[in-house]
Amino acid sequence: MKKKILAFLLILFPIFSLGVVKADTVKSKYVIASDSSFAPFVFQDSSNEYTGIDMDLIKAIAKDQGFEIEITNPGFDAAISAVQAGQADGIIAGMSVTDARKATFDFSDSYYTANTILGVKESSTIASYEDLKDKTVGVKNGTASQTFLTENQSKYGYKIKTFADGASMYDSLNTGAIDAVMDDEPVLKYSISQGQKLKTPIAGTPIGETAFAVKKGTNPELIQMFNNGLANLKANGEFQKILDKYLASETSTDSTSTVDETTIWGLLQNNYKQLLSGLGITLALALISFAIAIVIGIIFGMFSVSPYKSLRLISEIFVDVIRGIPLMILAAFIFWGIPNFIESITGQQSPINDFVAGTIALSLNAAAYIAEIVRGGIQAVPVGQMEASRSLGISYGKTMRKIILPQATKLMLPNFVNQFVIALKDTTIVSAIGLVELFQTGKIIIARNYQSFKMYAILAIFYLVIITLLTRLAKRLEKRIR
Ligand code: GLN
Repeated sequence: MKKKILAFLLILFPIFSLGVVKADTVKSKYVIASDSSFAPFVFQDSSNEYTGIDMDLIKAIAKDQGFEIEITNPGFDAAISAVQAGQADGIIAGMSVTDARKATFDFSDSYYTANTILGVKESSTIASYEDLKDKTVGVKNGTASQTFLTENQSKYGYKIKTFADGASMYDSLNTGAIDAVMDDEPVLKYSISQGQKLKTPIAGTPIGETAFAVKKGTNPELIQMFNNGLANLKANGEFQKILDKYLASETSTDSTSTVDETTIWGLLQNNYKQLLSGLGITLALALISFAIAIVIGIIFGMFSVSPYKSLRLISEIFVDVIRGIPLMILAAFIFWGIPNFIESITGQQSPINDFVAGTIALSLNAAAYIAEIVRGGIQAVPVGQMEASRSLGISYGKTMRKIILPQATKLMLPNFVNQFVIALKDTTIVSAIGLVELFQTGKIIIARNYQSFKMYAILAIFYLVIITLLTRLAKRLEKRIR
């Protein structure tokens, strides 16, 4: 009997292994980028962990194939950019395989199929695409739904409003800022099953298979491992279990939630850890970038009052260029633009960390303003003092240090405090590159529980308290220096 089984297995083995290309990990760790809110594929559960079909799937495949992963959740559009810029090795985010994307991505085997579908409020009278005339339809940037809407816009005459993430899009639909949304069918259906008062009046349109992707021509072993792992999980039933966990249990509405998230207290209780970590990032960003900005700002400020024309010119150009570029564009340029440029020249992917990119952008931005504060402070000291000191034979450097700067510093201090407050608030802007600081943390929480009024109030109070405390502290320091 045993022999028979053995012989049977020996025959089967080559049959099964036929066509399976084995793949081995090349990197010690693969960075996988994903959406920030796209339930049931990826979303945060009530204990603030990312879960969903995609999260479970990629983790199970990594385990099955024996490779290490690190998951980031910057949002769909940002995840796409991250893979293209080499900041991430792969993307799993309920991503549809479209012909256009095949030009820039290599896709794995598909693990799902999705339509795009229109979602409106339960009370809405919109029942066909024709009804959308002059109405506003929301859509997430970079998605297949966006392509669909753009292609059909002239036919139906609606306006399109683009959102960076699903949370703000659904929020806007709930508050009536937009009349409809276009999103993947399983996502809309899932949110309805979770109690959202929405409906889908029109049948969906196919947008393609859902698959895992890497940047075209890179990490081929990752695609191979994904395919092999997916095949194994399908064979041993684990894949079906993952699907069932999120799709079959429509009745168990968020059963894991133990704390009531409709009260401010409940929100804080459930999310304080995440909020504190977001706050930590915000403070680190503000403090580090401001320290760097002071150094750069003082250098350029001194240049701007220097007796040398070339130094004055350098300072002027620096201030004009940085001040003339919006901070958000500066951050995007550093995070996505420069790595893309370097790659186009060297052929090497050279990603930059989001925290580093955010810090550089904030430092440069604040430095330009600080340079102006320094210039203003020095110029406010009457010129007569420099002239008198120089005519006594004291050098320029010494006059600066001993006579001008001590007076100028006193004039500059209140402006420095002011600039720091601005720097702290500006950290919210760099959340655009997917950095999960305090603001982004709040948005992710809202994506899960739709408590935008209370959550934004909490965020506002967080910033208010921190800024008040820090300005008090700064005022005290200022007095001591005086
Ligand atoms: N399936 C859609 C696409 O690929 C949406 C994906 C998403 O929003 N995460 O464009």
